[in-house]
Formats: sequence, structure tokens, C-alpha cells
Amino acid sequence: MQLKTILNRIQKFNSFVYGTAHWVGDEHNPTLEVEIHPRSNSRGICSGCGKRCPGYDRLAQRLFEFIPFWGIRIFFAYAPRRVNCKRCGIHVEKMPWASGKHQLTDNYAWFLANWAKKLSWKEVAVAFRTTWDHVFKSVEMAVNWGLEHRNMTGISSIGVDEIQWQKGHNYLTLVYQIDEGCRRLLWIGEKRTVRTLLRFFRSFGRERSQELRFICSDMWKPYLKVIAKKANQAVHVFDRYHVVAKMNKAIDEVRAQEAKKMVAEGYDPVLKKSRWALLKRPENLTEFQETKLAELLQYNLKSVRAYLLKEEFQFFWEYWSPAWAGKFLDKWCTKTMRSKIEPMKAIAKTLRKHRPLLLNWFRARGQISTGVVEGFNNKAKLTTRKAYGFKTYHAAEIALYHALGDLPGLKTTHRFF
Ligand SMILES: [Zn+2]
Repeated sequence: MQLKTILNRIQKFNSFVYGTAHWVGDEHNPTLEVEIHPRSNSRGICSGCGKRCPGYDRLAQRLFEFIPFWGIRIFFAYAPRRVNCKRCGIHVEKMPWASGKHQLTDNYAWFLANWAKKLSWKEVAVAFRTTWDHVFKSVEMAVNWGLEHRNMTGISSIGVDEIQWQKGHNYLTLVYQIDEGCRRLLWIGEKRTVRTLLRFFRSFGRERSQELRFICSDMWKPYLKVIAKKANQAVHVFDRYHVVAKMNKAIDEVRAQEAKKMVAEGYDPVLKKSRWALLKRPENLTEFQETKLAELLQYNLKSVRAYLLKEEFQFFWEYWSPAWAGKFLDKWCTKTMRSKIEPMKAIAKTLRKHRPLLLNWFRARGQISTGVVEGFNNKAKLTTRKAYGFKTYHAAEIALYHALGDLPGLKTTHRFF
């Protein structure tokens, strides 16, 4: 069987035929070059307008990398024609196997992009003996195509979240769709300012924004402001996990201060190694942490009281009626305000201030999946942290859309992966 026969079966181009194949490269880098010729009497397609046009001249041969097999790299060798188009002037013809000035064939780019969902970009480059840059370009192509072809109808719930990236206080704002049955990353923007989220709503469009029924976010002021302005009709819900995260941060602060103070005053360092015992839910503790917690509970420490307040607050989420939940919230806040633990008091103040939004949680229960944002947050952090080798915001953006956007891909007649 000839190579031509195989290629015609998996990747046939109208108006072009495969010619001879030659070995190039050495035994360490076995490579095949397969010639491509235009069918005789066929006319090239103008890359400007897509019409068939009379020929003008021919350019030098170019190589386009195709999907490797059996450890052999494959290149298509073709000398592109230039066409004389009445509308566009003299243009290089459109070649069905590659877009623009890309050195990779479209199929190879899709192939690499798909592997880049399973492996890091660097691993893909090594596995297929290509460069990081080629992998990046491929993923970029797949993401751009996916963004153009995704379905943006029927979005009724979104979650707004931020992640820290790079060093220092650089943030990205991420907007997810969190409808039952459709959860994906919709949008990414630099920073977490009013402007950032305004840009989302602008690109999302007025009509779609007006159709939103639920929006989930944390208590970050710029977000609250923009959401109130742009999607006033939606029920705005606070993420449970963001509230818990805030409390954990407060406990951390209390514990660190208290531990320092105890050492300074010559007490036993009972708070040593207690961090996770105080932060984790009791059901998730290890044996060591359980013992540690039991020990701590015997002392009348601020850290312990803060911990108990946090644990008590878990009952808030168990209520069914917003009215009863509201009563519980008020009681909890009063108690916490009397605790003399400043970081916890600050939380009580914030919760009081946003009482209506907190109670919206009960109105949205069962209609949105509130845990989804937390899951996405973890995945997003992992994606940006993974050694993709990207330094620029653009690369991070492409990586996040690729990993979390659930973007559609090109369907080909032959499946290469
Ligand atoms: Zn044209």
C-alpha cells in the first residue's frame, strides 16, 4: 500500500493530489516530505475573498507539518500559487490544509491542542518533538475557533470569581456559567476592578445580562457595584466558600497573634501545629489534628473561641427558610460582636452589612450549583500554577479558556486522536 492511499483515506483535499514522498533527515530524526500538487486545470482560491481566480505565478516550495506517525515527522511540500483576483488583486491562494501563515497544518494544530488538554504544553512539545511555541500557537488557534463557535444562549446563572496570579497582588477576574447542566468558563479579564467587570458585561451584551437570574460572587466591593448596576434583576448570591474562606483568614490571624503572644509571655506553645486543626472541617481532620483540636478545646483561647464561632456559623447554611436563617445570622453577629476578637468582629460587620445578599443564598438553593465556583477556582489556580512556561497575561488567558472553557472543537471526518 502506498502512503498516498493512506493519506487519501484520512485527509483528502479536493482540487489537490498527493505526489511522491521522500525521506529526508537522518536516522535520529526520520522525516518524510510528501509533495502536494494542484489538480491540473484547477484554479486557486483567492485568500482574500474565497473565489476561484486565474493564476498569476508560483511561489517557492513551503513545508507544512502534518501529524507524525510511528515516530516519523511528516511534512507536506507545496509551492503555493498566486492568483490574480479582480477584487483583491494579487494574492496567495488559500490552502485547505493550513490557515494564514501557519507552518503547521490545521489538523496537526488541532492534534497538539487536544493533547494540551491532557498534558502540559511543555510535555506536548517534548512528546511530539515540536516546540513550545508551536504548541502555544495551536492552543491559541483552537481557543479562538472555539470562542467564535461556542453557543452563548440560555445562560441564566453566572459566578464571578478572582484568582491571584504571578507574584504579588495581580488578580484575574473569571466569570463562569454555573447553570445545572452547563458549567464553563465564560470570560477572563485582567485585575479585579470595576472596569474589569464592566468589560465583561459589555462583551456579554445588554440583552444577555438582562436575562440573568442568578449571580454568585464574593463580597468584593467593585463586583457588588457592577453587578447591581448591570444585572439588577438577578438574585445576587454570596458564595458559601468565600464566606468560609474569609472566616478562615480571620482565624489564621487570631491564631498567629495569639501564638506569638503566648511565646512572649512564657506559656506552653499549645497553638503550635494547630493551624489545620482550626481551619479544616471536623470531619476532614487527620488523627493528629483531631487530638490537637481536642487538646486546644480545653483552653480558653481566643483562637478556640474564634474556631467555635466559625463552626457555629456552619448551621446558617442548613436553614430552609430565609427568615429563620436571618434570625440565626443576627444572633450570631451579636454574639461575635461581643467576643472581643477583632478579626471576627470585622466579619460580623461585613455579614450584617450584606444581610440581604447572604439570605439570597436560600432563594437560589437548588437552582444554581454554588459549589461549582470553588471547583473551578481550584482548577484555575492549578492551570496558572502548572509549569506552562507562560509569563504573559495572554498565554494565561489562552490556557484558562482551553482548560475550563468547554469550547467546541472542529469535527473532522477522520479522528486523529
Ligand atoms: Zn479575492
